[in-house]
Amino acid sequence: MYAVRPPWFYRALSPHYLLCRVPSESKVAYLTFDDGPVPEATPDVLDILARFNIKATFFCVGDNVRKHKDIFERITADGHAVGNHSFNHLSGWKTSPGSYYNNVMKCREFFDSKLFRPPHGRFTPGQYFVLRNDFRFVLWSVLTMDYHHAVSPEQCLRNARENLEPGAIIVFHDSIKAREKMLYAMPGFIEHALGQGYRFEALSAGM
Ligand SMILES: [Zn+2]
Repeated sequence: MYAVRPPWFYRALSPHYLLCRVPSESKVAYLTFDDGPVPEATPDVLDILARFNIKATFFCVGDNVRKHKDIFERITADGHAVGNHSFNHLSGWKTSPGSYYNNVMKCREFFDSKLFRPPHGRFTPGQYFVLRNDFRFVLWSVLTMDYHHAVSPEQCLRNARENLEPGAIIVFHDSIKAREKMLYAMPGFIEHALGQGYRFEALSAGM
């Protein structure tokens, strides 16, 4: 029905340029939130992360940062990392390399980050070879599928729990569509991981 893991050919690319999992033997995991910031979801995420006192990484859509600058500023003030998720959440498969590059750079006008997550995880070799000069690509080791209409909140939580491993990069969405499932699965996953002796860290380009 869907894949929790990224396609093998992404995992085969050099982690120097594209990260699916942080190479680590210790119990550390990386929460990531895509598609915000939006008032309907992001402040709730920030409250939960503050309650657990853990740091995460937000892959922000540039146009949402433009619209919700105050929420974006709270993300960084709270000590979380931010990454580029393009300005208009473009699919690389449907966009020419030039337009794609320009859209990613337009996002960068609103905030600077060396981290880039391609929307939908879709990009072409041409887009990859150009953008990897400026960014570290970050995919994931676990997609919770919180945005998927056919996936229950309980299944989202199971997807995250069952794929927890050292260096795991877990994707949730601070979006209106995923909100309900994410707000159920994310705190439950954090409690589970902390109980297993894991800690959470924000991503950085140098990993
Ligand atoms: Zn996205």
